[in-house]
Amino acid sequence: MNHQPFENWIFEERPLPPDQEQNLNQHLEECKTCKASQHAWLSLQEEMKHSEMVSPIPGFSQRWLISLTERRLREQRRQAKKFVLFLLGAASLSLILLIGLMIMDQSPLEWVIGSLHTIALVTIRFKQIQLVIYSILKSLPPFVPVIAWVVFILPLGLLSITWIGALWRISMQGVSEK
Ligand SMILES: [Zn+2]
Repeated sequence: MNHQPFENWIFEERPLPPDQEQNLNQHLEECKTCKASQHAWLSLQEEMKHSEMVSPIPGFSQRWLISLTERRLREQRRQAKKFVLFLLGAASLSLILLIGLMIMDQSPLEWVIGSLHTIALVTIRFKQIQLVIYSILKSLPPFVPVIAWVVFILPLGLLSITWIGALWRISMQGVSEK
């Protein structure tokens, strides 16, 4: 069977003139091959229409994802900038401190380390003393006579004073030894 010009007419995108369309319909009723071709062509067109409708959505989501990534990157960059600024600030502050101390004609590193060491030790010891006293006070029944309190607290107080004094002396020696 000759399928021309019907095959061309099937794949024609523009609407056919009425006489051609009539001829085509007539041929399609008789010819299974052209009927199948027409069916395939129509379903393909349907799919294309559908994908045209759907395609903006993936594109949109992709754009949205890209913008999200960009926003995240921008945020990260901003945070990194903040961190760098913080580091620069800390560095320049310590530099100023060091220069100031050098101008004051002291051993700056020793001075800084010594003072930090003393502060840290005193703080730790003070916290420990506080904890010890607190735990003793908690464990003591409230009806313990005042004399017992004094007996407990006086040595502790003396001990802590000795501690602090010893620490102070040690840290001062550590600095002055230089
Ligand atoms: Zn045919």
